[in-house]
Amino acid sequence: MGDTVGELYSHLKGEFRGDLLRPSDHEFSEAGRIWNGMVTRTPGLIARCVGVPDVQAAVRAARTLGVLTAVRCGGHSHAGFGSCNGGLVIDLYLMRQISVDELNRRARFAGGCLLGTIDSATQAVGLAFPAGVVSHTGAAGLVLGGGTGWLNCLHGLSCDNVEGFTVVVADGSVFHTSARENPDLFWALRGGGGNFGVVTEFEVRLHPVTGVLFGTAMCLDDDISRVLQCWRDFMPEAPDNLRWGFSLAIAPDTDNLPSRVRRRPVASASAVWVGDLAEGHRIVDHVLSFCNPEVVTKDVIPFVRLQTMADAEFPHGRRYYTRSGYFKSFSDQTITAMVEALATIPSPTNQIELAYLGGAAARVDAADTAFGDRGAPFIVNLLGNWQNVEDDAANVSWICNLFAKLRPAMVPGVYVNFMSGDEDDRVPEAYRDRWERLVYVKSTYDPDNFFRLNQNLRPQKTAGKGSDS
Ligand SMILES: Cc1cc2nc3c(=O)[nH]c(=O)nc-3n(C[C@H](O)[C@H](O)[C@H](O)COP(=O)(O)OP(=O)(O)OC[C@H]3O[C@@H](n4cnc5c(N)ncnc54)[C@H](O)[C@@H]3O)c2cc1C
Repeated sequence: MGDTVGELYSHLKGEFRGDLLRPSDHEFSEAGRIWNGMVTRTPGLIARCVGVPDVQAAVRAARTLGVLTAVRCGGHSHAGFGSCNGGLVIDLYLMRQISVDELNRRARFAGGCLLGTIDSATQAVGLAFPAGVVSHTGAAGLVLGGGTGWLNCLHGLSCDNVEGFTVVVADGSVFHTSARENPDLFWALRGGGGNFGVVTEFEVRLHPVTGVLFGTAMCLDDDISRVLQCWRDFMPEAPDNLRWGFSLAIAPDTDNLPSRVRRRPVASASAVWVGDLAEGHRIVDHVLSFCNPEVVTKDVIPFVRLQTMADAEFPHGRRYYTRSGYFKSFSDQTITAMVEALATIPSPTNQIELAYLGGAAARVDAADTAFGDRGAPFIVNLLGNWQNVEDDAANVSWICNLFAKLRPAMVPGVYVNFMSGDEDDRVPEAYRDRWERLVYVKSTYDPDNFFRLNQNLRPQKTAGKGSDS
């Protein structure tokens, strides 16, 4: 691969306007970093594009020379798809422009934007794009996989709010897609991940959001199971304005918590209300009063604060491993299995995240986007998060064992953005009845599987070919 990458560099350096970084360049090691410290990959060349012509040049040259290519926006793929060994990284780090049309509540943002860039620009005029909950996450990977977050119940998934994509496909040509132009590609890009090309621009709808009501509470001991039962029963009837979810974890040993709570298993509730505040106070007070809560907080906060408050929990470079699944509802046995697992949690920063994907997100028809079926609204994300390599085995096996216990009660399906690198076999499960249409679109726009570092859909003629890393 080395000589070929050298040839790729020589080929690109005349016309490329951005930065071409090789391992000998001093910026290379910083530029090569991806978020998950469990995944170490060293590319042969990082091409930091500054615009569509750079992306086209990189795609055309790498495809002609047969160079393995990763595409990176924020580098937050759990599986580490934003990098590769020995090949090319098409890095959109320098493509973080955004323009906001306040009057028409629309934005256009470039393919390298992080969520924080979008929130800052849209909140400056009191608008918001429904997306994820950690501001250093890349928007491109998140939106292309679906995009869940605080505003889903009220305004749908991120991909439900996209009106158009500009995308460079595998032969280097540029397509614009929308409901009217290239509708198959538009459908596939809303949930089908990075399979179809490099998206250089997203056109999205925005919604008025400024202050939000944010409440938290913790439950201990037997109240953990009881509060989860209350949540399970309440959410199907909850108003769209409410996003209420839980993290099951070990309470941190911090001064802001009473000593009776610290280092103990807890169910931490987070409730966000967007809309009429009087109504919001009533509902949030109600849900946070279930089951003898401790340390209840409630405040109206700026949306940007909500969107950044989890940033420090997931810093770059720690070791992360995840498993995820959907449930129609939670049986008492499922709740018990999750609560019991807290007794053996190997890292105090691991958590079991419980979310509800109802409201506007659930009302989008399964056939409308490649994201697909939204009929099983309860989501469990087992999020492993630890510091040291010697703790890998204990943490990975804690997650896999708990997943195996929960799996029989899950419905088939998984959100592609919460899959780890060893879950290739679940990609067909993620797309199920959309599979054939996705493979058809993939075969049309990427017949040689040039874009394969993703939750990969193999085009018809290469079906069965192994994936690289
Ligand atoms: C800390 C953290 C918090 C998260 N929170 C949420 C959340 O709240 N909601 C949620 O839905 N998900 C969340 N996720 C999951 C997240 O959606 C995925 O990890 C997503 O892949 C991140 O996108 P990225 O651009 O940063 O990743 P990258 O690693 O850069 O890319 C991920 C995939 O997208 C492809 N890709 C990237 N850019 C482009 C582009 N411009 N065009 C085409 N393909 C591209 C890549 O090739 C790769 O296959 C979170 C992840 C992390 C690490």
